[in-house]
Amino acid sequence: MSLPADGHLIIVGAGLAGYHAARGVRHHGHRGPITIFGEETRSAYDRPALSKAYLTGAVAEEDLLLDDPENPLEADWVSGLGVVGLSGSPDGTEPLGVHTADGSFHPADAVVITTGASARTLPAASAEPTAAEKTAAVRPYVLRSMDDALALRDAPLSGASVAVLGGGFLALEAAATCTQRGAAAVIVAAGEENPGAKRLGTPVGRAIRAAHEAHGVRFAPPARAQAVRSTLNGHEVLLADGSTVEAQVVICAIGASPRTEWLLGSGVSLTEDTSAVLCDDTGATVVPGVYAAGDCAQWASHSSGLRPVGHWQEAVEEAAVVAAALTDAEPASLQEPYFWSDQFDLRIQGAGRIHLADTTTVLEGSAAEGSLLVSCTRDGEEIGILGINRLRDVTRWRKKRRIRSTAPALAA
Ligand SMILES: Cc1cc2nc3c(=O)[nH]c(=O)nc-3n(C[C@H](O)[C@H](O)[C@H](O)COP(=O)(O)OP(=O)(O)OC[C@H]3O[C@@H](n4cnc5c(N)ncnc54)[C@H](O)[C@@H]3O)c2cc1C
Repeated sequence: MSLPADGHLIIVGAGLAGYHAARGVRHHGHRGPITIFGEETRSAYDRPALSKAYLTGAVAEEDLLLDDPENPLEADWVSGLGVVGLSGSPDGTEPLGVHTADGSFHPADAVVITTGASARTLPAASAEPTAAEKTAAVRPYVLRSMDDALALRDAPLSGASVAVLGGGFLALEAAATCTQRGAAAVIVAAGEENPGAKRLGTPVGRAIRAAHEAHGVRFAPPARAQAVRSTLNGHEVLLADGSTVEAQVVICAIGASPRTEWLLGSGVSLTEDTSAVLCDDTGATVVPGVYAAGDCAQWASHSSGLRPVGHWQEAVEEAAVVAAALTDAEPASLQEPYFWSDQFDLRIQGAGRIHLADTTTVLEGSAAEGSLLVSCTRDGEEIGILGINRLRDVTRWRKKRRIRSTAPALAA
């Protein structure tokens, strides 16, 4: 179902995918009203710098704003108001619209769900909160929103001992920025010997570990963090092998879960394992007129392993595909999946279907040189490239492999 040219589009979630979906429908000539609900009171902003340059103070909040002041998006931004329910049914009999936290109902001709994800946390070590756990001051930090990053930016990191839980890019970026902010000791509980090796292959995992160790970061035994206990001096983290890590500051970066709690009991289907919104490869859900994109959504090509979830480029591309579907425009062409991460002086980039590779082969460079180019293959065919400080090579590979097919064709 496409959106009538003068119809009302409601976007739930004023983040990256929501902004780009709105830009996309305007680009395709949509003339009707667009309302974007965001539960945060801030103007929509971009997240990648929150674990990097924003934490070190190199960029300010206004540098991260998504909208272009020279060419502002023509939309009604409703900030500080969460959406609590969706109306609409697979058979189209229920009126389409959303319920907001102030008790109002807002009818719509189409709804795009872009509510992103929330940071996962670890359970407390004991059922009864300790005295320290009752005070907000000593809670582990997470990194998802500007408020989270602001809290960590204001934390007394200089001279502190810091434990970072998680072995993904967010955790490693946080470890790097805490080191740069003068933490006395930074230890990463990554859950594996070489962080990222399971996803990116051993050469890259080793190179990442070596770069962090060269800056004084230590790594806990390769056991997952299971629980956190707050003490009067900080925290004690319990690892799966029974060992513990003590630190004054704990940053929990163990992944994110789709923000779809407000959709429970609604007409859309959620995945059993992650509760992401289940969509086809145009972002359409089972409710006519309701689409989803970005970190809250699981498209068919995600389910089949063809594309990864949780990356910046994925959210932007999905928003473009949804905008085209809503306006009956030519479907946007997709690039190969792509991500990047900045840690100390490393720019790590990955392009292609790295998550499906069965073999990784070093083409050039080494961890010692701080420069590495790795080919990712499956059944002998190159399906991805990984680079550490190899911007030109990765860019060249992406240009060569630009996919010209449409999103539905990709999932076929
Ligand atoms: C700290 C950090 C660093 C990152 N760094 C990188 C990187 O280096 N490279 C990379 O490729 N990717 C990176 N990413 C991932 C990338 O930023 C995300 O994939 C992207 O932001 C997803 O966009 P989204 O619109 O789906 O979700 P979001 O950007 O999270 O936006 C969702 C918005 O919806 C709002 N919302 C949620 N529920 C409701 C509701 N019920 N009602 C109203 N509003 C609601 C939220 O408050 C939020 O503002 C990073 C992510 C984070 C958090």
